[in-house]
Amino acid sequence: MSVTLILGQMLWADTTQPPLPDWGAAVEGDRVVATAPHADLRARFPTATLVEATDCVITPAFVNAHHHTYGVLAHGIPLEEEAPAGFWPFLEEFWWPRVEDRLTHELIAAAADWACLEMVRSGITTFYDCLEAPYAIPGALEVEAEVVRRWGLRGVLSFEATERVSAENGEAGLRENVAFIDTCQARGGLVSGLICFHTTFTCSADFIRRAFTLAAERGAKVHLHLSEGTYETEYCLAHFGVRPVVYYDRLGVLGPHVLVSQCVQVDADEIAILARRGVHVSHQPLSNCEVGGGFAPVPEMLEAGINVALGSDGYVNNFLEVMRAAALMPKARLLDPGVMPADAVWTMATQNGARALGFNNLGTLAPGHPADLLLIAADLPTPLASHNLADQLLLWRNPQHLRGVMCAGRWLLRTGEIVGVDEEEVQARICEAAARLWQK
Ligand SMILES: [Zn+2]
Repeated sequence: MSVTLILGQMLWADTTQPPLPDWGAAVEGDRVVATAPHADLRARFPTATLVEATDCVITPAFVNAHHHTYGVLAHGIPLEEEAPAGFWPFLEEFWWPRVEDRLTHELIAAAADWACLEMVRSGITTFYDCLEAPYAIPGALEVEAEVVRRWGLRGVLSFEATERVSAENGEAGLRENVAFIDTCQARGGLVSGLICFHTTFTCSADFIRRAFTLAAERGAKVHLHLSEGTYETEYCLAHFGVRPVVYYDRLGVLGPHVLVSQCVQVDADEIAILARRGVHVSHQPLSNCEVGGGFAPVPEMLEAGINVALGSDGYVNNFLEVMRAAALMPKARLLDPGVMPADAVWTMATQNGARALGFNNLGTLAPGHPADLLLIAADLPTPLASHNLADQLLLWRNPQHLRGVMCAGRWLLRTGEIVGVDEEEVQARICEAAARLWQK
């Protein structure tokens, strides 16, 4: 296998450590085989292919730990009346009947294709997707997976099983996940699955226990949405007499195999339980605003020792925008410009996301680690230096500043262009799919 040397202006191999000026990375196959100063890499690999990227910073690629790729179909969808008045009406009057219940395999594939394009443009090489489309099973996940495999992204896909339509439909949702996990485990590659169910207010205790049993039998992780707004807390207090995290803890299902998304309305006791059980959290700052959910206590969760990752939720999928929201909103909420420093947000967007999805060594660049990396243009208006790198890149870079995106050793974007994809064709397909959904 041939070696490629990528020589950057700086290498920021691990976002918890300072960047290294005039360092680069050697990639062979799907792995990083060395990181070192330019001169050392040239001496060690004299016949390697050279990628001179001294106008760029090399960083680990992003991990979007919470996506709904089908969400793009609803961007700008006309509302029947006025905007939904709260989280429950948002789901019951709008999101479920107008979007999720109308999804077909064709719409799912078109949306996944566009979402992959957006992710590559945004520097995301690994993502977790949560598909809820109760009338598109069986087979919906395999349709989505085909698209993700074609793009060469690292996707963890799941179907959000729920009993909101019927018990039978809930069971079919769990089976969709199980069949997909088994297929991916047998097949190998960059696409994998996990078990996903919706929430305490759409799934019974028996259903939730069954989801965890099915996951345990396969060594798979479990994902659920948790306390996205005040609704779920009120529901649990009214029906079970306890808050949602306490409810799950009493079911005995929480542990390091669990990834919970949102965690907006969690109190100090719930944060302590999540930390004690080693549960992973993914944070979606912008979609929390969209549904009027509130401000997630992210600095508090990090302080408690919880691994908090970052996700776009299929809403605003420019990951640098999501990162800016994660960095800036806590400063305003806590009246403290010192909370959520930029490097902490970078860590959430890279290695915390990888850990949340169960990937060892992803999210940092070192020998033996997956070659998932970004080349980010360093041509900022003020000098780029070790002390300001995290802020400069987080606040003032955008997808158009990405010069390279590599996933598992393969360039998906190079010199600013997506490799081997007709972008106009992808766009035409999603526009047509959205028009069809809106007409239904
Ligand atoms: Zn979500």
